[in-house]
Amino acid sequence: IKTIGVLTSGGDAPGMNAAIRAVVRRGLSRGCKMKGILKGYNGLLNEEIIDMTAVDVSDTIERGGTILYTARCAEFRTEEGQKRGAEICRKHGIDALVVIGGDGSFAGAQKLANLGINTVGVPGTIDLDIACTEYTIGFDTAVNTAMEAIDKVRDTSTSHERCSIIEVMGRNAGYLALWCGIANGAEDILLPEKYDYDEQKVINNIIENRKRGKKHHIIINAEGIGHSEAMAKRIEAATGIETRATILGHMQRGGSPTCKDRVYASIMGAKAVDVLLEGKTQRVIGYKNGEYVDFDINEALAMTKSIPEYTYEIGHALSHNYSKNVK
Ligand code: ATP
Repeated sequence: IKTIGVLTSGGDAPGMNAAIRAVVRRGLSRGCKMKGILKGYNGLLNEEIIDMTAVDVSDTIERGGTILYTARCAEFRTEEGQKRGAEICRKHGIDALVVIGGDGSFAGAQKLANLGINTVGVPGTIDLDIACTEYTIGFDTAVNTAMEAIDKVRDTSTSHERCSIIEVMGRNAGYLALWCGIANGAEDILLPEKYDYDEQKVINNIIENRKRGKKHHIIINAEGIGHSEAMAKRIEAATGIETRATILGHMQRGGSPTCKDRVYASIMGAKAVDVLLEGKTQRVIGYKNGEYVDFDINEALAMTKSIPEYTYEIGHALSHNYSKNVK
């Protein structure tokens, strides 16, 4: 392998720059020529390809977002688009490609690999929803950003003795919501994976908590459930307690990456290059049982993961069961 390309695809995540930096510098130090592809698969199809030197990634490890930009690209989901993508790689002398993104982006990498381009995926998503890995780049920063924002909402919620529904990102995955629910001591955590929740039970909880003298009631609602505004209206009508919805939105994706994100991104990015130079292709980098590992992309995409039951149970127990004997 002489030339390695790198791109970021799907939703951006803090730490992507640290991963790009690691890919570029590891590749250069191992004698490869490095190319950056702008705007994900879109940029590949539009041939927005630049040479990358060590200096191009200076001063980026601490920056949020992605210096290569990111995009979603419908054309790349088609066979024709994928064939054109592989041809463009060949035209630019790109023998191998590191794709930093989520499951969708890996599916694209898998298609390119089937067309003869060596590919490795690096998990970059705030959602933590990639089954083959216990960690995804961006999660730590996003969950800390959300946690700090929820603390602020809680202050004002307590002052006004309100009930607050705070919607956090995560697409169809509830990891951000679960972690915030525990870290912020939320009274209720609503997860798409556990969508068996009974709104009447939530309403009863609010009324009981209020009787016991609680000044606020924080409900963390996952994006995958959504409808926070409508839920707030229903809860206010049923309880008579002022209820507001706050949707945190894209602020959760921005900001300077935490130490954890920078370190994981640096190691995973470098490992992607090492794996390619070992002669492997169609791999995804992961973190499992305390080690950085790589999986076959087909196996990685076929894996599933679910919300850890014990964690969920404790999150619930710490906000509810303690009060059993309290009058
Ligand atoms: P996140 O979940 O964090 O947004 P993601 O990588 O899962 O990240 P997607 O929007 O699902 O985000 O995918 C990013 C891009 O990858 C798509 O816009 C498309 O170009 C490409 N892609 C997704 N699925 C496929 C597929 N099955 N085949 C080929 N390309 C795909």
